[in-house]
Amino acid sequence: MIEEIERYAKENNIPIMLPDGIEYLCNYIKEHNIKNILEIGSAIGYSAIRMAKVSDDIKITTIERDIDRYNIAVSNIKKFNLDSRITIINKDAIDVSIESKFDLIFIDASKGGNIKFFNKFKDNLDNNGVIITDNLSFHGLVEDETLVKTKNQRGIVRHIKEYIDFLNNNKEFTTTYIPLGDTISISKRRESKLVVCPTKDNLEEILETNIDGIIVGIKDLSVFPSLQVDINKLKEIIKSTSKEIIVSVNKMIHNEDIPYLEEVLIELNKLNISKILFYNVGVINIAKRLGITKDLVIMQEHLNSSIYSNNFYYNNGVKGAFISSDITKEELLEIKNNTNMEIMFMGYGYLPIFYSRRYLNTNYFNYINKHREDNLYYMRHNDENYPVLESSNGSIIYTSKPVNLINNLDEINSIDYIVMDSFNIDNSKFMSVLDNFINKTKTNNDEYIGFFNTKTIYKVKNNE
Ligand code: SAH
Ligand code: MG
Repeated sequence: MIEEIERYAKENNIPIMLPDGIEYLCNYIKEHNIKNILEIGSAIGYSAIRMAKVSDDIKITTIERDIDRYNIAVSNIKKFNLDSRITIINKDAIDVSIESKFDLIFIDASKGGNIKFFNKFKDNLDNNGVIITDNLSFHGLVEDETLVKTKNQRGIVRHIKEYIDFLNNNKEFTTTYIPLGDTISISKRRESKLVVCPTKDNLEEILETNIDGIIVGIKDLSVFPSLQVDINKLKEIIKSTSKEIIVSVNKMIHNEDIPYLEEVLIELNKLNISKILFYNVGVINIAKRLGITKDLVIMQEHLNSSIYSNNFYYNNGVKGAFISSDITKEELLEIKNNTNMEIMFMGYGYLPIFYSRRYLNTNYFNYINKHREDNLYYMRHNDENYPVLESSNGSIIYTSKPVNLINNLDEINSIDYIVMDSFNIDNSKFMSVLDNFINKTKTNNDEYIGFFNTKTIYKVKNNE
């Protein structure tokens, strides 16, 4: 019976999927356990019927604007007794609004509409869903334009090339191309990498989890409160894991630090690490002069918050940026979408509010004539406790609670690296939050999300 539809399509020049293509698509649906499908471009229902036949619990919504093809599709679907599982809509897809979510969106309509369909219907895609598009080769004409014979073909080839460009430059989706049938593309939402700032106590445990990498500070050159090591210890860590290792030298560099910084950069360049986080812009030129080939990532806490500054750094050889947590999600995504920077963002952990080169805890204890016994104290304000951490570099005051973006991760999946800092978090608590991040398990709590959804507004009270 399905052969009858194939024959009819052939006789009437209806461009149904080629055998290898539909075969691949059906296997993909089976292997990925896909159940809800949206198809743009039903023609006479051939691909919808083939997909529905993969399994009895598959449901398909398919859209066809041509009334004659729609009518034939309706009758074909009936013939296969699939009208309870295939819903067909007779409209231009661009005018169709659907609420529900799908785990596969199959685009196979007019090629000039591909980008519009993709952008319109991606909101109907489940987080783990895929968008598959047919005819990326257009019978070889896309690869070899000398085969183009008509004006119409030239237009279609141009549209397909524009679409391929759109896919290749998409910040939200990554695409692979399958050279079967008329070549199909498979686009998936990008996934952020998850990296953790461990402490010396939880390092081993954290390396055993399913994270992508860790951030390690270099002693006396890093102001990350978590793990700080010398080069020898770093070499040991590198040996012990296959995970990505990002190294931080993100302290404010003073003249006296430069010889040690240079020595460290030269060593780091020989090691199997991926990136170097820095704060001081001088590092860019020092790294250039020393011929450092590792990716540099600028981390300026509050200072890095605009498209222009990121493009400036990118044009000066900086490959990545750790973006300030003082900005909203919209601003963050704007930076991601308008720069070529690899973006890192804090997903969990205490955020630094304030840094001083002064030894604030020591000064305070001197003032009250007591002995300082710890590096970490809390400053109490409005019933909240703000950690104040003193080190040889000075003092940092942190937020009173850790920011936690677990319930917002799917909004920022285009961000390249989500960072979790375990500093000052009880270990069992950290491991359970980490587990949620790894498995993307949302919580029912109102987590503290900093400025993610709120613009920072400074209000001056009357008479102040
Ligand atoms: N998927 C089918 C073939 C589809 S052919 C199969 O493999 O069996 C492409 C179809 O898309 C055509 O029938 C055309 O009428 C329809 N189409 C083109 N642009 C459309 C639009 N904007 N909205 C809905 N249908 C469209
Ligand atoms: Mg097609």
